Amino acid sequence: AALAENRADPTRLLQILIATQARLLWLPAPAITLIAARLGLSRARVEGVAGFYSFLYQSPVGRYRALFADNIIENMQGARALMALLCEKLGVAPGALSRGGAASVDYTSCIGMSDQGPSMLVNGRTLTALTPQRIEAIAALIQAEEPLERWPAEFFAVADNIRRRDMLLASRLAPGEAMRRAIALGPEALLAEVKTSNLRGRGGAGFSTAQKWAFCRAAEPPEGGGRVVVCNADEGEPGTFKDRVLLTHYADHVFEGMTLAAYALGASQGFLYLRGEYLYLRAHLEDVLARRRREGLLGCGILGADGFDFDIDIHLGAGAYVCGEETALIESLEGKRGTPRIRPPFPVTRGYLGQPTAVNNVETLALVTLIAAHGGDAFAKIGTPQSTGTKLLSISGDCAAPGVYEFPFGATIAEVLESCGARDVQAAQLGGAAGVTLAPAEFSRRIAFEDAPTAGALMIFDNSRDMFEVAHNFAHFFAHESCGFCTPCRVGTALLKDSLDKLGAGRGALPDLAEIDRLDRVLQRTSHCGLGQAAANPVLDGLKKFHSAYAMRARRPDFQPAFSLDEALAPARALTGRDDAFAHFAEGEE
Ligand code: SF4
Repeated sequence: AALAENRADPTRLLQILIATQARLLWLPAPAITLIAARLGLSRARVEGVAGFYSFLYQSPVGRYRALFADNIIENMQGARALMALLCEKLGVAPGALSRGGAASVDYTSCIGMSDQGPSMLVNGRTLTALTPQRIEAIAALIQAEEPLERWPAEFFAVADNIRRRDMLLASRLAPGEAMRRAIALGPEALLAEVKTSNLRGRGGAGFSTAQKWAFCRAAEPPEGGGRVVVCNADEGEPGTFKDRVLLTHYADHVFEGMTLAAYALGASQGFLYLRGEYLYLRAHLEDVLARRRREGLLGCGILGADGFDFDIDIHLGAGAYVCGEETALIESLEGKRGTPRIRPPFPVTRGYLGQPTAVNNVETLALVTLIAAHGGDAFAKIGTPQSTGTKLLSISGDCAAPGVYEFPFGATIAEVLESCGARDVQAAQLGGAAGVTLAPAEFSRRIAFEDAPTAGALMIFDNSRDMFEVAHNFAHFFAHESCGFCTPCRVGTALLKDSLDKLGAGRGALPDLAEIDRLDRVLQRTSHCGLGQAAANPVLDGLKKFHSAYAMRARRPDFQPAFSLDEALAPARALTGRDDAFAHFAEGEE
């Protein structure tokens, strides 16, 4: 059935695997063999894809699969203790399968709920605002094998937490309003409006949207192909959740932005790549797409414009952070492992299946709809000359009101912290794990591409927090999410994690700090993509700005081994049945 639903199309391999697993709980070897045979692919190729995505399993998992968000903010809110409580109630160890196969409990990376954590996924469904009482209730429901549909609805409630609105979040546009104006103007004039607006991509890099579209429009599609518009809704940066709110309440803005992009580029095919963690949004998004088709806003001859045919498919991700990188996302859309491509060629000239492809962020596309409706001039009047318009921020951590805030570009970090009720702030992590750690002396910096750029996450840490543990959590995140394609990142992120584990365990020495610094620079300079290049950022910032948090862990000035030789010999002692004083190393002898 999964094959039939996806037209046995090899480019839909990831969707086929997701749908197969939804029926079978995991992907047994015969299912992989069958899929490979029916798609005409090698078994190794299918297995390679299944093995790449952390939400796909090739060995049995629980009929109830609980995945806690391993996010520094949610850990601060007690997520680890809640996970231990659930494991205890279910009698299962983290990462293991309970007797009888009813349950498995494990960690996953941030699931986009750090404004309302601790949170987790159970069989892909999102549960928020977890408390010990709620965990006990969940354990009882799992033990009774109660279907998720019968669990209390409030367990699955996701709050919007919109705290500050500006031009985007306050906008009220009827579906099709911007599109009608654009069609009256024509594609060249629409592109000119986007250029006038000076809109820059909100995914982090800040590339000019008009320039990206102009490159894509100028690129010649291969024979029989066309141009493609992709909305990157794979917001996987820890601490980011503003796209979740846009997709919930402004889906029409986003889809209309994609349609406008298609109109400007002459594209007929569109994809929205939705992160697997937002599975709960899929039905809602499909409903919006279906309504837009009925209203003539998608499909053939959109709004009567001759020859303007465009439609949008939703593709689900499966728990791979690296797929937020646009070339990795395109690989994933093509049904492959999400390995970033070597550039050039850039996607605008050779992207999805070799066709010119414009990949834009959710927020960027929603803003395109405002620009088409109100004009580029109105947009350019807001913000700063180099960073026009507004920026959505996902604010979490030590503040009175975590949630989504929309500020004009140019707002200072201090203004933002004041607005969300943050007090005694020790550090603000701007841009998620891959971003920059700002100390109080930097709070006068402005949120803008020319000063403090961000894709939108702002995590707040007050004076009670240990900044070493913040970087330690991020190091684990990058080691887990490295796609393994290039050696500096594959090995470097693992070494960095191990070094911080060593310091965290109290085995560090001063030379370790120098070694970490050296490793960070290797990662920055030699990694193939942004993930590896950014993986060192939090530790480098931490060493520079919060050095004492690291130095206090490096107790010994000289070399200290990463493990205890005496402890490592325990199995040998057990085997030989000898555990006297001579079977141990004396203090300082190792
Ligand atoms: Fe993969 Fe890391 Fe290399 Fe990027 S830097 S390609 S994530 S291994």
